[in-house]
Amino acid sequence: MSTHEKKYVIIGNGVAGTTAAETLRKNDPNCSIVLLTNEPYPLYNRVSLPRFLQGVIVEQKVMIKDFAWHEQRNIQLITETLVTQIQTEERLVETSDGRTFPYDALLIASGGWANSLQVPGAKDTKHIYNFVTLDDTKTLIERMRESRTALAYGGSFIAYELCDGFAMRKLETTWLMRGPYWLRNSLDADGGEVVDNIAKKFGVEVIHGDEIEEIVPSNGVPGYVKTTKGRQIQADMIGIGLGITLNTHLVKETPIEVHHGIVVNEYLETNVPGVFAAGDVAEFFDTTLNRHHTMGTWDNATSHGRIAGTNMAGGHTPYVDVPTYTSPLFDVNIAVVGSAESSNPELDTIALREPGEKGNENYRRLFFRENKLVGVLMIGSPKGRKKLVELVKNQDVFATAAEREALLTLK
Ligand SMILES: Cc1cc2nc3c(=O)[nH]c(=O)nc-3n(C[C@H](O)[C@H](O)[C@H](O)COP(=O)(O)OP(=O)(O)OC[C@H]3O[C@@H](n4cnc5c(N)ncnc54)[C@H](O)[C@@H]3O)c2cc1C
Repeated sequence: MSTHEKKYVIIGNGVAGTTAAETLRKNDPNCSIVLLTNEPYPLYNRVSLPRFLQGVIVEQKVMIKDFAWHEQRNIQLITETLVTQIQTEERLVETSDGRTFPYDALLIASGGWANSLQVPGAKDTKHIYNFVTLDDTKTLIERMRESRTALAYGGSFIAYELCDGFAMRKLETTWLMRGPYWLRNSLDADGGEVVDNIAKKFGVEVIHGDEIEEIVPSNGVPGYVKTTKGRQIQADMIGIGLGITLNTHLVKETPIEVHHGIVVNEYLETNVPGVFAAGDVAEFFDTTLNRHHTMGTWDNATSHGRIAGTNMAGGHTPYVDVPTYTSPLFDVNIAVVGSAESSNPELDTIALREPGEKGNENYRRLFFRENKLVGVLMIGSPKGRKKLVELVKNQDVFATAAEREALLTLK
């Protein structure tokens, strides 16, 4: 009896897709693996892009894999190729250049693309940038070299990273956000003030509660930015951090279930057998929280890639992890662990703000559900983070207020 060589197709060569390809090869030396991406590069580190933007590291340090790595493992990496359709009945993937790739198992690890600025004047004005890809970063760096003033727009991580990059390269930087403070879905007003104070130390002007109404161009480049509250902000370049839209459009014409992301079970398989999703685009079943959600972190995408690769090759391993996001925040650190959602009415929170190192402050906010620690947000000193991650993982109960408050100072 002849055995059929298994065919695997992976859409997206970010950390989720590339880790899955590596895992598949380890589990099955004879299978064929096709890894498709619209970008021109093998895997690079998105988490390192801010440091490349700031000029702290060079481009080579951003790269993680090269083409030879794929050849050595017989992983067929096809770059600059957009997947346009998935046919789940025929088990085929189609690309924009008319090629088709048959699969026995498919992984969708397509991440998300940046939302653009949709205000009058933005469309026809140059020097308005997103910040998600290596190419975005190279373009930003080029423009920073010719600019004196910059505006970072948005209230979440990408806008902060842009602001940090502009300030580190000594541009006169304004940071404008619609919300009352940064990361409004996880911080409170106190935590927001801690972040503002750090940004101000680096010369950044921080403006809350205002929005870009219009870009007023001058010869096709930003003359100034007009806000809804009547401000006029001078900016030679504008960096946009208005979130990403998950790349779920690919499955629109298929029976694959989509909610916010592509819905998968704890084995990362969709409702269509043989089709898996991993990384940012996957709306996965979180066994710690007992519900589905999406998570845009490097560690989560890496673990997803490993589990998806294992299960595509016939394994049956559930995804059990506490997602953690850690990032530098100017000259301190920020860590977000588990579910740190201010808007979730099921969660109770407590917070502590205290003096920290280098003239900064430490801020810690803890999120409890039914007296179990489910989320942590820390700015400043990372001491105690590992212990808190373990407590989230273990689902221990902290029945009294004193027990819960003791966690605010746990080192
Ligand atoms: C600037 C920046 C800083 C970050 N910093 C941190 C940090 O400090 N800590 C942290 O934990 N996380 C950070 N993140 C988030 C983290 O990088 C992501 O969660 C992670 O990279 C997601 O990996 P992924 O493989 O799921 O998707 P992605 O890395 O987005 O890869 C998906 C790939 O699929 C491609 N693709 C999409 N659709 C198609 C299609 N139709 N055809 C072909 N190819 C397609 C995309 O172009 C992309 O190349 C940061 C992200 C950015 C942008």
